[in-house]
Amino acid sequence: MPTNLLDLDAAGLTEFFASIGEKPFRAKQVLRWLHRFGEGDFDAMTDIAKALRVKLQGEACIAPPSLLSDKKSEDGTRKFLFDVGGGNAIETVFIPEEDRGTLCISTQAGCALDCAFCSTGKQGFNRNLSVAEIIGQLWQANKALGFDPKGERIISNVVLMGMGEPLANYDNLLPALRLMLDDNAYGLSRRRVTVSTSGIVPAMDRLSRDCPVALAVSLHAPTDALRDRLVPINRKYPLADLMAACRRYLPAAPRDFVTFEYIMLDGINDHDADARELLRLTREVPCKFNLIPFNPFPQSGFRRSGAERVRRFAEILMAAGVVTTTRRTRGDDIDAACGQLAGQVLDRSSRTARSRKSMSIVEIAS
Ligand code: SAH
Ligand code: SF4
Repeated sequence: MPTNLLDLDAAGLTEFFASIGEKPFRAKQVLRWLHRFGEGDFDAMTDIAKALRVKLQGEACIAPPSLLSDKKSEDGTRKFLFDVGGGNAIETVFIPEEDRGTLCISTQAGCALDCAFCSTGKQGFNRNLSVAEIIGQLWQANKALGFDPKGERIISNVVLMGMGEPLANYDNLLPALRLMLDDNAYGLSRRRVTVSTSGIVPAMDRLSRDCPVALAVSLHAPTDALRDRLVPINRKYPLADLMAACRRYLPAAPRDFVTFEYIMLDGINDHDADARELLRLTREVPCKFNLIPFNPFPQSGFRRSGAERVRRFAEILMAAGVVTTTRRTRGDDIDAACGQLAGQVLDRSSRTARSRKSMSIVEIAS
């Protein structure tokens, strides 16, 4: 099997070239071709001797996930659907703003964590994405957006907030993050790369040691009783542990605060008392809040909090001096908003075996 070079960060490429009897500086050359210039054809790598190019054609390949569709929202948001084989497809979203362009990347086909309000979670889990499939989303999006290696960056920020839990796919996330930061590849600053996690505490500690980037934590509830229901991983890593992990993360982090994401669910977690409880909970964690109006999807069973409720909730947090923003919903006309990413996932967890059973009963009944 040829080695897919998109699976390798700088260290991996250096090892690969050593393994085929080539000098380490080749790794840097090829890294630049692949990621800085987005080159997908060995023959175009003109400063590499013909003989080595022929060798590479035999031993290696450049295989990003293939683009299935590219939809454009009225507000300029773009949603890309990529085939990752075996009947699975994943989604990537580009969100243009005046001062930046943000790419929202997926890390798993589905998600095993089953948060109550998340459409990815509802689909179940198939598998982790490979490094090539994670970084390949950036590689492909750059191409689709018409990037010019010498011109201005179209994608200035990356958020790992698409389908899946990034920290549950740590081993593949890490080389992908390193490529995003590598000056010979995408050269993004650590502040402009954000990992969003539902709170896998041990992996947060690893990330702070291995590759500290900006951190967003999906909080969604001020108490363990409620968070256990909304974000089931809380049963394993409850709020006290999560807050302690946030504090441990910050000294190494490129920003001096954690962003807490908080989905606003009508009548569930959006009372004034919840906001006050949040302030108590996060008292010792330098943080900002990002309130996310819930984006509905079929059979979610939740409603979005009203605009006035969200405003009042934000007001309570801000009155206590905590910077609070409310996420503007983007791309919902093409189902590209937070929590609407579904792609296509052939679930392999026991969860769908259960719901499939009940589905077939319904089918029989009808
Ligand atoms: N697994 C990671 C990253 C992907 S989810 C995490 O949970 O943080 C990215 C963000 O979208 C999370 O904050 C998540 O809570 C939010 N989200 C999920 N479902 C949503 C929905 N239906 N409406 C709005 N936001 C949602
Ligand atoms: Fe997974 Fe994040 Fe969705 Fe929870 S919110 S199910 S962790 S993708």
